[in-house]
Amino acid sequence: MKIGFKKIPYDGINFEVKKEDISFFGIAQKINKNLVKCTGIIEGSFLHLCDRCGDEFTKSIKQNVEIYASCGLYDDDKYINLIEFFDDFIDFDTMLQSELESFKCDYLYCSSCNK
Ligand SMILES: [Zn+2]
Repeated sequence: MKIGFKKIPYDGINFEVKKEDISFFGIAQKINKNLVKCTGIIEGSFLHLCDRCGDEFTKSIKQNVEIYASCGLYDDDKYINLIEFFDDFIDFDTMLQSELESFKCDYLYCSSCNK
C-alpha cells in the first residue's frame, strides 16, 4: 500500500497493510510538508528459527510502533525511527518490512528455551 505524501492530511489518514499473518495498521499524519508521522500497531505471528536450539516456532507479535516517513533526504537526528522515501510516496509495506527486520534482529527463543 502506497500513499502519496501530498495526499496525507494534517488530521491523519488510516492505513492498513498485511504481510502473511502480520498486519500493520494505524494513522498516518502529516507533520510538515516533507514529514509524516505513522502511529500504529503491528500484530500477528510469523515462523522463526529459535536462536538457541534452531527449532522452528511461531512467534507472536503485538507492538505499538511510531515511525516517521520523510519525503526525500531528512538531515536531522531528531527522529530515530525514520524511513526516507524518494518517489513522493510512503510505502507502508516497506515500513512493515523494516520494522519486522529490526524485531527479528533481537534474539528470539522458542517456548522451551524461554523458560
Ligand atoms: Zn529453542
